[in-house]
Amino acid sequence: MKSASNGFYGYQGRWAWVDLTRGQVRVTLPSWELYQKYIGGRGVQAALLWEKIRDIGFLQDPLSSDNRVIIGNSPLNDTPVPTAGRGSCSFISPLTYSPRPPAGLGQYPPLYGLITHSSCGGHFPNRLKRAGFDQIIIDGRANRPVRLVVAEGNVEILEAEPDLFEEINGQVVVRPTSAIINYLEKKYPGSSTLCLGPAGWNLVPYANLTTDYHRNFGRGGGGAVFGSKNLVAVTVWGNKPVRVFDPSKFTALARQLDEQIEADVADPQKTVSFRPETGTTWWLDRAFRGDFEGDQGGYLPWHNFDEGYFDPALYDRVSTAVFLAIAGRHQVCHRCRHIFCARRARVESGRFRGEGVRPEFETIALWINCCLVDREAIFYLNKRANELGVDTMSFGSLTATAMELTEKGYLGEEQSKLRFGEAEEMLNFLESVAYRSSLLGRLFAQYPDKIIDELMARFPPADEKEIIFCFTQSYGGLGYAGIEPKVFPGMFTAYSTSNRGRGDHTYAWTIQAEEAGLAQPEELAAYVVQSQVGKALIDSLGLCDFFSGDIFSDLFLELYRSLTGLTYEIESLKDCGRRIYQLERKINNIQGRSRDYDAFIPPKFRVPLKEGPYRGRAVDPEFQQKILDVYYRLQGWTENGLIIENNDF
Ligand code: SF4
Repeated sequence: MKSASNGFYGYQGRWAWVDLTRGQVRVTLPSWELYQKYIGGRGVQAALLWEKIRDIGFLQDPLSSDNRVIIGNSPLNDTPVPTAGRGSCSFISPLTYSPRPPAGLGQYPPLYGLITHSSCGGHFPNRLKRAGFDQIIIDGRANRPVRLVVAEGNVEILEAEPDLFEEINGQVVVRPTSAIINYLEKKYPGSSTLCLGPAGWNLVPYANLTTDYHRNFGRGGGGAVFGSKNLVAVTVWGNKPVRVFDPSKFTALARQLDEQIEADVADPQKTVSFRPETGTTWWLDRAFRGDFEGDQGGYLPWHNFDEGYFDPALYDRVSTAVFLAIAGRHQVCHRCRHIFCARRARVESGRFRGEGVRPEFETIALWINCCLVDREAIFYLNKRANELGVDTMSFGSLTATAMELTEKGYLGEEQSKLRFGEAEEMLNFLESVAYRSSLLGRLFAQYPDKIIDELMARFPPADEKEIIFCFTQSYGGLGYAGIEPKVFPGMFTAYSTSNRGRGDHTYAWTIQAEEAGLAQPEELAAYVVQSQVGKALIDSLGLCDFFSGDIFSDLFLELYRSLTGLTYEIESLKDCGRRIYQLERKINNIQGRSRDYDAFIPPKFRVPLKEGPYRGRAVDPEFQQKILDVYYRLQGWTENGLIIENNDF
């Protein structure tokens, strides 16, 4: 419901359209219809990206000036609702890109980049809301390096100062993210800065955007999209409060929800997936040993996804308890309450000493997949990746690939010294990718299918299969997350059908359900669809994945109404989630995604595990096809995974 004074309850009611090519900013009222249909954050950004894609037909190159990057928030942001500090960033990804799929994969249609929504916490998203804007929509490309200041209802495009750059190996490149953040936050006290790092400046397709030193819009290459636009940073501040439709009711209901979440977090039976002490590292013991009410473990990837189990003595060097031992005080996102997944960490001595944050499960898991069982090195690499603006997950995935290629003798020309389990060379590799400073770094600073192409051109056709075998990211993959893909068929479907690309674990997470016995294609497909809809809503509401309240409860629906004046029933709210997922899929269809993409199984995953409780388990292509058939039926898509014309957008 709009207020009388041109404002919107729960929203700030202003969008900024930034045209970097012309150096112009336009501020408009948002579309109220869009808010009702798509809520905020991820949903509204999908609609704004759809308008762009519809206008240009399709986006051929995500690093061209035609890409649009949108940063924004949601109605719940900056309210007392626990975890209401997550912001959204959407764009077409330069990583899930395969305009000429390598011939050795078979016949596949081209893919021009998928819509990526990335969620980030820290303080930036709520400060952006206080600056008076719901969405900043950025188009075009500046002809010189620029930065944005979004403050107190205004947006300015400013020239990026020379202080934000340095010369490395004869090339001018942005300084590490902490230096950019320090510089700009000192210049504007009380502000937050979001920036790219050297990797984004150098257009590495898995470069991220960083704020608060360690919070990231992580996956899909947002840093490279900033780099392609000559955009270095966005700094935000302001004091505009959130306008509440029914303040006394909202305060009372928010308190009730807070108490409920506090009680849930104190109850191990109710906590969704981890305890506040262990954070996401809880999943390490669960994935390896089955601790914490898990089934049996055996699905922590090892040696570039060859296995899900390995020597327990090696695991004991990187267990949940081992990371707990270096954890310090909590350092959480603005408005986080009770759940508190993040903690600071310190390594006191040695080559990798330093102070920072404890790495998250997915980062650790994907570096264990490089056989790295050195806690200090994992801590340090995580810190350095944040400085360089590199997504730790995609980097971990590609490093494991590079290690296997080295082992098999395919990176001789680059003189790769990468070895499974060796930290020092992994650190050198990270630097050389971010700065494109060696042959090896330049090769891997590209999207995966381009790397495959270049390697295949050097070797006889007989080697084609073996090279492709090392890549789990081929045909436009985002890169698999840290749960061994061979073990859970439902999770494999979740990985395969996520709108932001093959391998993403955040849009649906089936592990507990599959361990509890969910096994039939109908059940698995339905679970994935329902989770994807729920996650679209969580992202569009500005909440965190670990929010443990029920967004379909009477309490939550009433709370939302008292904030915005908008009435949703369970079904009408679910309709919004479905609409968001469908529209993202529509964009992806236009960008080239169809069943070919969803049904693609990297060859490695057809080879059975040899170790652990799931010995003998591999991805079963026939079974996956059955789940996919049901999944498409439930989504209402064609057998080829295409959206049937839908006027509901
Ligand atoms: S649970 Fe973790 S990610 Fe979620 S809001 Fe809290 S600190 Fe941030």
